[in-house]
Amino acid sequence: MNWRLCRLGLALALVSLAAGRAAAEPPTLKALIVDGQNNHDWPSTTPILKRHLEDCGLFTVDVATSPAQGEDTSGFKPDFAAYDVVVSNYNGQAWPEETQRSFVDYVRGGGGFVVVHAANNSFPDWPEYNEMIGLGWRGAEFGDRVTVNDEGEIVRTPKGEGPGAGHGPQHAFAVVLRDGEHPVTAGMPAEWQHATDELYHGQRGPANNMQVLATAFSASDQGGTAAHEPMIWVIPFGKGRVFTTVMGHSPQAMKCVGFVVTLQRGAEWAATGEVTQTALPEDFPGPGEESVRP
Ligand code: ZN
Repeated sequence: MNWRLCRLGLALALVSLAAGRAAAEPPTLKALIVDGQNNHDWPSTTPILKRHLEDCGLFTVDVATSPAQGEDTSGFKPDFAAYDVVVSNYNGQAWPEETQRSFVDYVRGGGGFVVVHAANNSFPDWPEYNEMIGLGWRGAEFGDRVTVNDEGEIVRTPKGEGPGAGHGPQHAFAVVLRDGEHPVTAGMPAEWQHATDELYHGQRGPANNMQVLATAFSASDQGGTAAHEPMIWVIPFGKGRVFTTVMGHSPQAMKCVGFVVTLQRGAEWAATGEVTQTALPEDFPGPGEESVRP
């Protein structure tokens, strides 16, 4: 090879090396997934949640796994304060009081918290947790219910009236945006098709300061309530931010691109209050058109 071509090749290689480095900035946010007990398949779903968070390039992800159901959990003390966002894939026995206190302090002090599916079934006897999640998988007597009527208005149903928590058989359903301005939902289609999943209905709780970002219609012929049920919502807690999605029952449901993007944006928003992932992937689902990644 002639020396000029050789030098050109070397220069191009250096340029592409520099460009590559610039394009792949190291993740700056730290996420912690909490699991270990769940009536769902957490050993299969935690790696999927972890991959989604890592794939967006913003997060390094650790996992804190509690002792199994029935075992001594007194030593379960994750260092929540070391993270920007905690993602719960946990639905099990109460954490030790010290762990509860450190978690409340973490969120109240400005930490982010992401609640995925059955994580909102957890801890019915923990008042601050109920404040954070707003609505949970609870009986009708537990608290208010929140739905959206056909005019798009929020409807609160007092405790004791109407159904408690449940879901019909799994099916694919339409997710309808109720706030397209929020950083998590901005730019998403007004309606997109979610892959086969449980459609939670009749969730109950204090529902204070709850902002509903998206709903799904729970059809009677699908074992539902004939109401628009909240699917994605946010709640401030002290200086912290809580993001909930009740979607994500199974590994397959978590591979829906709508779920992926919702989780990635929701985690960034919970961590920082902003979303820099403004571009939607080309395979984001549209109305009536589900999109699932391998
Ligand atoms: Zn489920």
